[in-house]
Amino acid sequence: MITLKNAAQITAMRDAGRITGEALLIARDMIQPGISTYEIDQAIRKHIEKCGATPAFLGYHGFPASACISINDEVIHGIPAKNRILKDGDIVKIDTGAIYRGYVGDSARTIPVGNVSDEAKKLIQVTRDSFWAGVEKLEAGNRLGDVGSAIDTLVRQNGFSTVKRYVGHGIGTNLHEAPDVPNFGTPGRGIRLSAGMTLAIEPMVNAGKADVIELNDGWTVKTADRSLSAHYENTVALTSNGVLILTEVEKGF
Ligand code: MG
Ligand code: MG
Repeated sequence: MITLKNAAQITAMRDAGRITGEALLIARDMIQPGISTYEIDQAIRKHIEKCGATPAFLGYHGFPASACISINDEVIHGIPAKNRILKDGDIVKIDTGAIYRGYVGDSARTIPVGNVSDEAKKLIQVTRDSFWAGVEKLEAGNRLGDVGSAIDTLVRQNGFSTVKRYVGHGIGTNLHEAPDVPNFGTPGRGIRLSAGMTLAIEPMVNAGKADVIELNDGWTVKTADRSLSAHYENTVALTSNGVLILTEVEKGF
């Protein structure tokens, strides 16, 4: 069941979104060759807790950290660790969430470490652009297929592939709510959009093929062909006055 949120609920979600977005800025500013993904996770947790919020991922289905941190060909759900050290040329995906006064924010960014390849730069840019292409279709009366199709079309035009196995989702008092929000689709098909929907839109884009594999740790998802992957996610609200990007605290990031 899709839970529509009223204006007061969306205002509450803004706080959770802001805290989540700030945690990602802190992570971005720490990222450099030599730092461990554990250190980044700890800084994210510290910020969320300092704000009086709770890390949404910590303990979620048993996940052991406050952020999923995934490097290069890892797509999503990477587990932070002291022995996972970032190096020059890596791309790193940070995905985190905060629960504040009962509402959840969920957001992810892909960040280059030092000097990265032209392909990596393009992949990060196209993934971010595909999110915004999807958001352009986010209006009452449109359908989810319009959003997914816009994302996937831009990705394919750039020679990359959208991950199909994992999708975005509704969000509110739960991290994952109905509906599923695929990053692909057919225009004019799928659930009709209406004011009060709050969604986590999150294209996952592979430089190679769309196929992914899950590792034996029970969490980490990688590209099957070992190509690079990027991820960009915001929690958004569709209101009668347009779209709010709840987890965006710095334009252009
Ligand atoms: Mg996320
Ligand atoms: Mg999400």
